[in-house]
Amino acid sequence: CGIVGYVGHRQALDVVLGGLRRLEYRGYDSAGVAVLDGAGALRVRRKAGRLANLEAQLDADGRQSFAGTAGMGHTRWATHGPPVDRNSHPHQDASRAVAVVHNGIIENFAELRAEIEADGIELASDTDTETAAHLIANAYATGETAGDLEASVRAVCRRLEGAFTLVVTHADVPDKVIAARRSSPLVVGVGEGEHFVASDVAAFIEHTRDAVELGQDQVVVITREGYEVTDFMGEPAQGKPFTVDWDL
Ligand code: GLU
Repeated sequence: CGIVGYVGHRQALDVVLGGLRRLEYRGYDSAGVAVLDGAGALRVRRKAGRLANLEAQLDADGRQSFAGTAGMGHTRWATHGPPVDRNSHPHQDASRAVAVVHNGIIENFAELRAEIEADGIELASDTDTETAAHLIANAYATGETAGDLEASVRAVCRRLEGAFTLVVTHADVPDKVIAARRSSPLVVGVGEGEHFVASDVAAFIEHTRDAVELGQDQVVVITREGYEVTDFMGEPAQGKPFTVDWDL
């Protein structure tokens, strides 16, 4: 439902929770965040119910354990599986190296689940989304795309059917957030020493009004310093830059 991703100089948790709050008006049933601490740790927390439930959990955990300047968040509108903690996003692979948030529906998820289960992996949720986390982790671990997160995301996107905006982080890649879209909105926010991805500019409008709308079947990598767009085959591509000149 609502998505925000961030890499920059501020605390990602604050930026992400602020962005999710700006997207709350769209309605949702669960919320979650992932933060990369810059030293190889990926922290994930998700909760069914209001954003306030997630924030209470983060306070109980101690927000300092979610320190880091790259991260992402999601508010979920359940389509596959009831709105409970284990179905809330971000979803992870078995080794918990990868975290994925997703808007939309992966239509061929049943077939993908069966393939993952055939590898001896037990899925932890009822969602269509979780399949993407396992497939990306596997693509990053072995084969042609090993060690290349962008290429791994592109390879998995080529296999997904349906509508999706995905945002992906990997514990081994602490300075990047990767996002992809097909038939579901994705915008980049361009700041100074910080970049955003979101399902809607509302998520980052208080930080920057320079935005780029991604086209169909495109992937973007954001870092502190910049962003780079490709298509699902890895060919350089261009989004559509625009300035947000309205107020919310
Ligand atoms: N299909 C996914 C789920 O049920 C994503 C729903 C959404 O767009 O929030 O978890």
